[in-house]
Amino acid sequence: MQNEQPFIAVAKGDGIGAEIMDAVIHIFDRAKVPLWYEYIDMGKSIYEAGHSTGMTPDARKAVETYGILFKGPMETPKGKGVKSINVTARKVWNTYANKRVFKTLSGVDTVFSRAGIPIDITVVRENIEDTYGGIEHQLTQDVALCRRFITRPGSLQVHRYAFEMAKKKGARRITCGHKANIMKLTDGLFLETFYEVAKDYPGMRADDVIVDDLCMKLVTRPNEFDVVVLPNLQGDIVSDLCAGLVGGLGFAPSANIGDSVCIFEAVHGTAPDITGQGIANPTALLLSGLMLLRHTGLMEEAALIENALLRTLEDGIHTADFGNAGTASSSTTAFAEAIIARFGEMPVHSKPVIPIPAPMVSFSADRPKEQVLLQSGVHKTQLLNGADLFVEYNGQPNALAESLSALLPADWQLTTISNRGTQVWPTGSLLTNCVNQYRVRVEKAATATITATAIFDWCKTVETVARICSVEMLLLIDGKQGYSLAQGQ
Ligand code: NAD
Repeated sequence: MQNEQPFIAVAKGDGIGAEIMDAVIHIFDRAKVPLWYEYIDMGKSIYEAGHSTGMTPDARKAVETYGILFKGPMETPKGKGVKSINVTARKVWNTYANKRVFKTLSGVDTVFSRAGIPIDITVVRENIEDTYGGIEHQLTQDVALCRRFITRPGSLQVHRYAFEMAKKKGARRITCGHKANIMKLTDGLFLETFYEVAKDYPGMRADDVIVDDLCMKLVTRPNEFDVVVLPNLQGDIVSDLCAGLVGGLGFAPSANIGDSVCIFEAVHGTAPDITGQGIANPTALLLSGLMLLRHTGLMEEAALIENALLRTLEDGIHTADFGNAGTASSSTTAFAEAIIARFGEMPVHSKPVIPIPAPMVSFSADRPKEQVLLQSGVHKTQLLNGADLFVEYNGQPNALAESLSALLPADWQLTTISNRGTQVWPTGSLLTNCVNQYRVRVEKAATATITATAIFDWCKTVETVARICSVEMLLLIDGKQGYSLAQGQ
């Protein structure tokens, strides 16, 4: 669809944000990029002005109207009980895939460029779920718990994006990073859905690597990887590792992709240690801006700027964070001017970027009238057959088991008691240290069902022995346990 009003929302951000965003917009202006910018208020100063989400209502409206946010890094005030603006923005607008591109740039000296090993890795990080749900509770004064959501529809969304993007990129390989060997239900679901989507792309080599092994392989043989898709937290860590492979955070751009809103930002933060000195490297934000231009169909302008950037780097122009320490470093503005001065020039040592014509795209149409309910369409039977009670108890596991067994309804079984995930009753090791919070599992004999009301009624009895911290229901899904065993069970 042709966009008649190519407006985008721009938030400069905190710390070095204004310095690098001004430099990038200046480059865009000089390249005659046909976009209009609405500058919006988001970030630390907006929190401090009393907006608990870190953005003004006008800012939210602009982003939801234009569908594109170009943002500088933002700081979340520490210790004020507020959520990260960066994570909030990604989640509120359902930007479910975070695409991060890590590419060898000639002129940027790295271990791999010196060895003649080219790197071109795109990390797709799931952007909504996982521990980034930020659902944390203190169960006792000694014990904190974080819940980790991995959902079938959410995983399918990010995998479909990753495969489609890999196909467009002409990728030879797509790899799922995970920890399904340990987290069989959560990472297991992420991995299972990866292979479900892979079936629709028979021409693409799809494989998986456990995330710790992936890290080792990335630093020893990065050129073997192409597109890598990961759950949120693992994707965050692996993408900073990949930034290190290509010269550091100054060269790591990202796009947060959603169906209604896309957010383009550098991977790095506000760099408080160099703020106000005019020495920040604008390359990562500029590369994020080039992703934005290509997303909106501005291929010619993106190619003009990218070729000039590549030539600038090849010519040895650098900011203080990279490049030849023997040559003077450029300020942020001088670096931007050096790029502008090379408009029309091509890189000599790397392949010039040839623009592929594309129509201008609109992102401001077809807003949903109500929340979209993501449903995977999978129908399985669900039977409730027990519960895990998380209790505060300051004694030995045997004493807890003895007290609770005496209170059990006739056809219920106390199957396991664990501490920090390790079984300590009916069997266990005296060498397992315990904290003052146990997980007590009760199940109905055989596979009979139990009611939630019965469980809650029993909780009242349990409270005479130990304080209930929380309750998790145990489901049999198509007859299979929808819950993990305790370690050692
Ligand atoms: P950081 O990325 O800001 O800085 C890490 C190091 O990299 C610092 O030494 C910094 O000087 C350097 N660096 C980063 N960007 C640079 C650039 N463009 N040019 C030259 N050097 C650069 O990480 P941090 O110090 O851990 O975080 C600082 C703040 O940024 C925190 O408040 C954090 O929450 C926030 N943050 C925001 C985002 C975001 O907006 N998406 C991402 C990460 C961190």
